[in-house]
Amino acid sequence: MITVTRGRFGSTAAQVLEQVRAGGVLHRDEIASRTSLSVATVGRAVGQLIEAGILRQRPDRTRLGGVGRPGVPVEVDPDRFVTIGVHVGRRIATVALGDLTGKVVAHETRERRTGEGPDVAELSRSAAGLLGRTPGRVPVSVGLVAPFRELDLDRERLGAELHDLTGLVVATADHIAAVVASEFLHRRHGTPGVTLYVYARDTVGFAVAVDKGVQTEVSRVGSLTHFPTRATVVCSCGRTGCLEAAAGDAAMVAAAAETGLLTEPTIDAVYAAVGEPAIGALLRARAQALGEVAAAVRDMVAPDRVVLVGQAFTGCGAVLDDITQAFHDATALGDLPLSFTRFGAGIQAIAACTIALGPVYDDPLAIFATTTVPPAATQ
Ligand SMILES: [Zn+2]
Repeated sequence: MITVTRGRFGSTAAQVLEQVRAGGVLHRDEIASRTSLSVATVGRAVGQLIEAGILRQRPDRTRLGGVGRPGVPVEVDPDRFVTIGVHVGRRIATVALGDLTGKVVAHETRERRTGEGPDVAELSRSAAGLLGRTPGRVPVSVGLVAPFRELDLDRERLGAELHDLTGLVVATADHIAAVVASEFLHRRHGTPGVTLYVYARDTVGFAVAVDKGVQTEVSRVGSLTHFPTRATVVCSCGRTGCLEAAAGDAAMVAAAAETGLLTEPTIDAVYAAVGEPAIGALLRARAQALGEVAAAVRDMVAPDRVVLVGQAFTGCGAVLDDITQAFHDATALGDLPLSFTRFGAGIQAIAACTIALGPVYDDPLAIFATTTVPPAATQ
């Protein structure tokens, strides 16, 4: 489970920082009215956060007029600290640096040898290399994200290894939960109640974000890898028609390659060839299967809205209507808001950096009080 926002259950500093993260440039009285903390309490916390280098003043946005001193608003300082995001995927590993707003400032990817565990020492050397190229920035925390269960990786052990190598606090999260947390933070407004996210790309699964009014949690991450469909493809588990074997990216590339119409064995080449009747039929069959599965999950979870995430849903614009139609035909619970979220190729870096920010936003003054510059930052 990931707590995306803590609301009034957080420390004073955490509540202030959360509002500034969401609001951008904010005055102290605006923070006070959004938190129900007093202006004096907000003022003290803002002072501490500025001193710690987490917030900075924006004198260029000073508000004139009114009674008393002119107000200088504050924003999250994106220049001083960075988080390290590490994402381990099936075929590639990504190492990224993110600023305290969650923006990725540097990243690199490397191929993984499939079937082997990730080389944590090599990943932390990558991070040290990136830090060396962004002098003056101090790392504060690490986020480690992977589809741990699907790749059969030991989440606790990898997290502990990264902690030993970096000396930093390490937060870990499942890939789908991390993607959902990133999506939620990008458009946090207007999402009360329960939002169901169905994710499909290399892996398929779902997560549920519950906005309780005062805090928001992403939880109940479920795998759809072996969810039954009517397809006849044989899965590694020995059964036929499992969703990932039938509709994952690798399955699409393999099926499209058999038509002899692909210029190269990549999912982008498959999407580019949607105009070929044979490949268009494959993509529409996948759209049908994904729409039906999303409807089945919706009928089990009964959320207030559904968001479809991942390139298997969004990568091919020509079949979006097929997905929507299949969803509405299959669901038994009637109409509800259904939307698509498009994330670019950088989602791995964004998701890992989002998770790395967790400890920072949980208890900002505590984490920065203990931050020392690790060897990596001084190279
Ligand atoms: Zn299976």
